[in-house]
Amino acid sequence: MNDIKLSEHFNLSEFTRSATARRLGIKNEVNSQHLANLTNLCRYVLEPLRKRFGQPIYVNSGYRSQELNRAVGGAVKSFHLYGRAADIRAANLSDNNKLYALIKELRLPVHELLKEQVIKGIPTWIHVAI
Ligand SMILES: [Zn+2]
Repeated sequence: MNDIKLSEHFNLSEFTRSATARRLGIKNEVNSQHLANLTNLCRYVLEPLRKRFGQPIYVNSGYRSQELNRAVGGAVKSFHLYGRAADIRAANLSDNNKLYALIKELRLPVHELLKEQVIKGIPTWIHVAI
C-alpha cells in the first residue's frame, strides 16, 4: 500500500506501524474518519511543533485499532483509538522536556498533554491528543 502524506513532515505509516501489531498479527488500518483526525493532529499540533523544534519528531504510537489498544494495555477510551493521539519523542530523550515546553509555549490546541514514563525528570515520550 502506498503511504499517505499527512503534512510536510509526517506520513500515515508513522502513525499506524506497530511492532506489537506486527508480532501478534493484528490489523491496524485507519478508516476515513481516523485519517481525517490524524491529518488534523498533524496540521494543528505536530507540524507547527516540528517546524519550531527544527528537528525530527518520532511517533512511538499513533492510531491503534481496538485489538492493538488492548494488546498494549491502552486506556479503554483512549484517543489513540480515534486517530486523535500520538506518543511522540525527540531523537534525544533529554530534548523531550523541550518538546513539551514548546507545545505549551506555542499554545497548540491539545486536548490532552501528558509526560509519560518520566525517569529522572525526563519523559520517555509525550502523549498529545486533539
Ligand atoms: Zn498516548
